Amino acid sequence: MQLKNEHLQHSRKRLQQALKSSQQLASTDALTGCLNRRGMMRHLKQHFAPQTLQGALLMLDLDHFKKINDQHGHPFGDLVLKTMVQRIEMLIRTGDVVVRYGGEEFLCILPDASLDDACTLAERLRQMVACAPVVEDGHSQWVTVSIGVTVFDAQEELQTAIERADQAMYQAKGSGRNRVKVLSPTARKPLRTVPPAMS
Ligand code: GH3
Ligand code: MG
Ligand code: MG
Repeated sequence: MQLKNEHLQHSRKRLQQALKSSQQLASTDALTGCLNRRGMMRHLKQHFAPQTLQGALLMLDLDHFKKINDQHGHPFGDLVLKTMVQRIEMLIRTGDVVVRYGGEEFLCILPDASLDDACTLAERLRQMVACAPVVEDGHSQWVTVSIGVTVFDAQEELQTAIERADQAMYQAKGSGRNRVKVLSPTARKPLRTVPPAMS
């Protein structure tokens, strides 16, 4: 009887470990190691009570990335993406979150950051990417990134703020790429719908 119990406990532990590692795999972008969108939702749920997250967002999109793939091959493009995440991770603070939001698009969530902090970080990142080429086998490739910045408070749906950061990033593309654009929440704003108080 005791042996059977021990065996059951052991199996349960192994199942729990397998579940944990499959959840981790499903939350992570296999190429760069940063979170994917599912991982972002999971992380936010684990670390923030509902309607408490506020701060700043950076939406980054590599410029003319298709051309880099076309000219130097997909594996080299992959290296550029990995390098991009390494550079972001060098500059962000503990508690900030990096998400591979699309193919060559990355979202940084900076909890409690001000607009000034976020703009300083975005500009440092832009310069860091633009000033050091990605090098492999003697080939060096200059890369640039366009960045959209915004801030949001706990009253706003995260998705609305992400769309605003995306809009700012497209403004950066439209005005020549390799730059940072800011959209403040005043250009907004479907507020989170708060249910009316029950009387
Ligand atoms: P823009 O400056 O307007 O952003 O132009 P772009 O070329 O960067 O954007 P576009 O959307 O035309 O192309 C994005 C490219 O990113 C196309 C796609 O093949 C490539 N891509 C997406 N995911 C990956 C990936 O995991 N690895 C590699 N190497 N390329 C990828
Ligand atoms: Mg791009
Ligand atoms: Mg893109």
